[in-house]
Amino acid sequence: MVSFINIPKGSDFSIYNIPFGIFRFENKTAACTRIGDTIIDLDLCQQHGVFEGINLPVGIFNRPFLNDFIRLGKPITNQVRIRLQEAAQIGNTLDIVSNAHSDLLIDADKVDMLLPIVIGDYTDFYSSREHATNVGMMFRDPANALLPNWLHLPVGYHGRSSSIVVSGTDIKRPSGQIMPPGADTPVFSKTKRLDFELEMAFVIGKETKLGTSIEISDAEDYIFGVMLFNDWSARDIQRWEYVPLGPFLAKNFASTVSPWIVTLEALEPFRVNGPVQETEVLPYLQYTGARSYDIHLSVALSNDKNTKKTISESNFKYMYWNMCQQLAHHTVNGCNVRVGDLLASGTISGPTPDSLGSMLEITWNGTKPVVMPDNTDRTFIEDGDTVSMKGWCENENIRIGFGPCTGTIYRD
Ligand code: MN
Repeated sequence: MVSFINIPKGSDFSIYNIPFGIFRFENKTAACTRIGDTIIDLDLCQQHGVFEGINLPVGIFNRPFLNDFIRLGKPITNQVRIRLQEAAQIGNTLDIVSNAHSDLLIDADKVDMLLPIVIGDYTDFYSSREHATNVGMMFRDPANALLPNWLHLPVGYHGRSSSIVVSGTDIKRPSGQIMPPGADTPVFSKTKRLDFELEMAFVIGKETKLGTSIEISDAEDYIFGVMLFNDWSARDIQRWEYVPLGPFLAKNFASTVSPWIVTLEALEPFRVNGPVQETEVLPYLQYTGARSYDIHLSVALSNDKNTKKTISESNFKYMYWNMCQQLAHHTVNGCNVRVGDLLASGTISGPTPDSLGSMLEITWNGTKPVVMPDNTDRTFIEDGDTVSMKGWCENENIRIGFGPCTGTIYRD
């Protein structure tokens, strides 16, 4: 496929991607996709007949979130994506229509990308064996790092959706109760152990009824697409508060997502087998086929002098529990899901020291500082630091990516 739109080498937005997002430009907020460095206004595409013959409600793209479009279902949303791929080729509809209506295409650096969905419920899993093992070794018993349930179910907790923000939103250093080392009463303080968590999150595309469950073999029908996700964490607050019910204020102050939803269909060429699950799981968690994806992930840390250091190179394929297992488990008790719910993977750590998904692990609980290009040390994230995550899939022919997932820390 060759587009009439220029696609710079190494772009996240090849014609094989066609992710969905929400842009704001001048007075307009609407749905869009992106090819190369060009934003394509899907509302104007619809008005000018690019989606002729696809059963789309009038004005479906002329709203500030994608939920209603996603709710139309994969038979429709996939047609839209495939139509855009066809239309964007040299001499096809989009080429012709955009000559007459130049406002249909906008330079990517002129628009603001917004949070693309109204997120109903947000769940965070804990599905990387390497991450769970590292945390268990640091805080419990190195010989029994994984708790007894870990190999039998994808451990998770219900998070907070109101504080999920789009890439580029500044994040305030949170305060809370912290128990200083050796003390017997807590203090109220800004966190001194602010961390990121490298994660991916998937967007629910089809709702279920309360009391029903999603069979693992049907799970992909319920997954619209995937985004990068940074589950910001305050480790000192977390350590004091988490017993016995798990994370609360250490996590709910903010999470950052990338602005684009990359569809499962775009990820199809990058499907791979996940890690072998050595412990046999219960039937509702047993799956067939390749249910993981080869998605390269990287995290860079930079400070206000614009020195940037890559501190992690990981891959989504390292996840022990896959998305289908997470969704089957989430609904096995009859819990319903709704369009726009977000289910995050949990911190993605790989098997090597350069593939760890949090500062907690990279600096081994602050004992091995990262040396930055300006020779300052980092054990956790400082004020003015920016955490930038990237994700991309690549083979000999195709490259697709997720766009940025960045946030900068400020202190008020
Ligand atoms: Mn997390």
